[in-house]
Amino acid sequence: MQEILRREKNIQRKVLVVDDELVNRQILGNIVSCDYTVLYAEDGEQALELIRQNEKTLSLILLDLLMPRLDGYGLLEILQADPELKRIPVIVLTSERDAEVKSLQYGAADFIPKPYDLPEVILARVRRSIELAEDHIMITGAEKDELTGLYTKPFLFHYGRQHDRFCPDMQMDALVLNINRFHLINELQGRQFGDKLLKTIADHINELLKGTDGLACRCDADSFYIYLAHRESYEDILSDAAKKFVEAVGNTKVSIRLGIYPNANKSISIEQRFDRANMACTAQRAVFQTSYGYYDDELHNKELYNARLINEIDEALETRQFKVFYQPKYNITGDKPCLASAEALIRWQHPELGMISPGAFIPLFESNGLIQKLDRFVWREAAAQIKTWKDRFDRVIPVSVNVSRIDIYDPELEHELLEIVSSNGLKPEEYLLEVTESAYTDNSSQIIETVEKLRSDGFRVEMDDFGSGYSSLNMLAALPIDALKMDMRFVKNIATSDKDMRMVELILEIARYLKVPVIAEGVESQEQYELLKNAGCDIIQGYYFSHPVPPEEFNELIRQEEE
Ligand code: C2E
Ligand code: CA
Ligand code: CA
Repeated sequence: MQEILRREKNIQRKVLVVDDELVNRQILGNIVSCDYTVLYAEDGEQALELIRQNEKTLSLILLDLLMPRLDGYGLLEILQADPELKRIPVIVLTSERDAEVKSLQYGAADFIPKPYDLPEVILARVRRSIELAEDHIMITGAEKDELTGLYTKPFLFHYGRQHDRFCPDMQMDALVLNINRFHLINELQGRQFGDKLLKTIADHINELLKGTDGLACRCDADSFYIYLAHRESYEDILSDAAKKFVEAVGNTKVSIRLGIYPNANKSISIEQRFDRANMACTAQRAVFQTSYGYYDDELHNKELYNARLINEIDEALETRQFKVFYQPKYNITGDKPCLASAEALIRWQHPELGMISPGAFIPLFESNGLIQKLDRFVWREAAAQIKTWKDRFDRVIPVSVNVSRIDIYDPELEHELLEIVSSNGLKPEEYLLEVTESAYTDNSSQIIETVEKLRSDGFRVEMDDFGSGYSSLNMLAALPIDALKMDMRFVKNIATSDKDMRMVELILEIARYLKVPVIAEGVESQEQYELLKNAGCDIIQGYYFSHPVPPEEFNELIRQEEE
């Protein structure tokens, strides 16, 4: 199926131009002939004949309304009545505004006003209508989500757009509803319970939308998108939902969060409107109770801020606004802690916004793939730094760099890392890679393959944020790694909580079983340091020894060691 669709993407598509005026046929024909094979008809009847002959291969009809014999409306009517011909999108060519609405009601996909716009505009509309129609065909069969009977996301967007077209003045709200900790619920209470929960929510939404022209879909497992007429309040709906959960699944612990983009702005795309509702939804921090929030000025400013960061990343890289800081890792297994390696951590020194912390831009750039650019910059800087220290202090201080999830899927990864290392005259053994544990749980076979390749080249790989990704012991035993970096959360409270200390001991035991050293991150106090040392932790990274610092300051740490 995929293959057929792919092949179809490359064929030359056919467009039929129907107009009784020769000059109009010529203008339009010229414009679209650069991308499409063009057929011509002088009136509706001739058009219908051509359409029937090319029923299977025709991609679009550009249709004049006023013509002798059979006019545009007449032809539209015939097409709409025929299930086979109905799938061919029709763009109506018209000079009267009134005709636009009428032709949409007759089933036209779009219209192009006369006199004609710029050729690019016309081509873009032609292309878009064809794409929409093809997407529609491609996804038929998946109009509804099997489990809940709600729409799928592409269809929600499609019908949402249609709704906007027919009711442009109706005020609509875009909602995103999400179940808190759904993955955990699924895991702890079973899939069946999870499914029942999803169906309960879908029923509740259906009831809410009954008799209205609202639309809803389920996507990404536990998200529901709802597009409905504006409401002043959602309190009642949420409290009803809570009651339904208790009735249906007898569980009061299930909670949801709701993000609302009220009176959604129709001049932006429907996808963007739901992105905004989604922002409002993810901004809800509570995970144990039902909560809701609106897309507001604060979120709008955040959206603008994010857009600015995305816009400026290239310039910032060119003008060296990004700096790499280094945080030392000390080996504490001997009498005296000794400098073992460092972690490279990026900083953005923005000329107007000041120092931006990685927490503000890393997740953003991870979500759109831009992180790859940044990572490569850091990898190069780190390699050059190892070389500088080698020349200056005659000693190798291995540096670890963060490898993002998306890098793992990049077929060029191995090649690029080898090039970076060798162009600085280094051996892969002197370079460490940190890969976050949750990347392993996402797609373990792919990651194991990649990491194995890198290790056979000589790179050493540390599993970052260990304990946050729910790896099973079985899986861990199969993983090719050189060290575990314990998630900072575990260290945070070891001085005050026995339970947390026992967790840390457990992790150390797992590491002994795997025969790999443990690195504790986020160590801030003498007390934490001693507890970890006594428990048998190997390496420590944290403010207790040093914050991440620029290279000049790191030089001082190296010098102190030499004394
Ligand atoms: P991470 O990889 O877990 O890095 C450790 C974070 O802990 C760093 O935050 C570090 O400054 C901080 N930290 C170190 N010692 C202590 C301590 O004693 N107490 C506390 N509270 N924090 C400590 P930072 O630099 O803000 O980086 C945050 C995250 O951003 C990193 O978490 C990493 O996931 C990401 N990141 C930073 N630089 C890069 C990069 O170049 N590439 C990628 N992909 N991610 C990066
Ligand atoms: Ca890290
Ligand atoms: Ca970490």
